[in-house]
Amino acid sequence: MNTYIIGIDIGATNTRVAVLNTVGEIIERHRIPSEMAEGRPFFEKVGQLASKLAHKTGAQVVGVGSAGQIHKDTGCYLPGLYPDAPWVGIPLRDIIQEQTGLPVFVDNDCKISAYAELKVGQGQQISDFICLTLGTGIGGGIITNGQLVHGEHGLAGHLGHISIDPRGPLCPCGNTGCLELYVSGTAVGKRASEAFNRKVDSKEAFLLANAGDSKALEVVHSTGFALGRGLGAMANLLNPQRFILSGSILEWYDLLRPSIEEGFTKSVMSSLKHTPILQSTLGGDGGIIGAALYAWDQINR
Ligand SMILES: [Zn+2]
Repeated sequence: MNTYIIGIDIGATNTRVAVLNTVGEIIERHRIPSEMAEGRPFFEKVGQLASKLAHKTGAQVVGVGSAGQIHKDTGCYLPGLYPDAPWVGIPLRDIIQEQTGLPVFVDNDCKISAYAELKVGQGQQISDFICLTLGTGIGGGIITNGQLVHGEHGLAGHLGHISIDPRGPLCPCGNTGCLELYVSGTAVGKRASEAFNRKVDSKEAFLLANAGDSKALEVVHSTGFALGRGLGAMANLLNPQRFILSGSILEWYDLLRPSIEEGFTKSVMSSLKHTPILQSTLGGDGGIIGAALYAWDQINR
């Protein structure tokens, strides 16, 4: 008899609930809009969908990756960058557990994606690596000695909040010049809009750069350079065997690559400058796969 796991990925825009087998293959998947601002009723709706799939397949455990900060021991959302958000304090793990009647393991979506890389992605047979998800914001996950790094409260790996310029703009986290303010899709759109003196989103900025527009190329260059500097700081701290990048911005990796390498080379110790920077091959499925396989491994330890 086949054994199944439920994997849930609660992103800023969409929530995906899937059935996976124990080698991380997705058997069935569903997508609903993320309505985290609704509070508890939204998370109950996610739990009900998971419950339906669990009963249909006889799944044994549920893994959840979610945007935001989640306390490792309580499974509740922490204030994070948005202390007044309606989801703060919501007991995510307990709600999904009540709905499904199964053991549930919850973690940050980008952090848990690193586990997917470890098990079935670019981190297989690698014991030390760093994952960055570059989308609306920047998320991260760190694998050290073959283990996902959690930290005291489960908040290790929020790598978008490494400051690359103490004189830079103020970040909602309270720091200034955070990497996320330079490299995310939101940041690219904001800086392109300033450069063009009109509303330009990140996609248009990359398209203009691809067509050779000098102002757009400058935005892309500074984005790549900032990312390279961030990676340099991370390499100096942890000496990873490789970086694995994922997320929507990577559609433009060829444009970004020279400036990423320039920023990296200028900030990393010379003995670490050959650290490989790879792209994920998991598409957008790292969150679901990582959540499911992490949960499976927790009940089989
Ligand atoms: Zn920050």
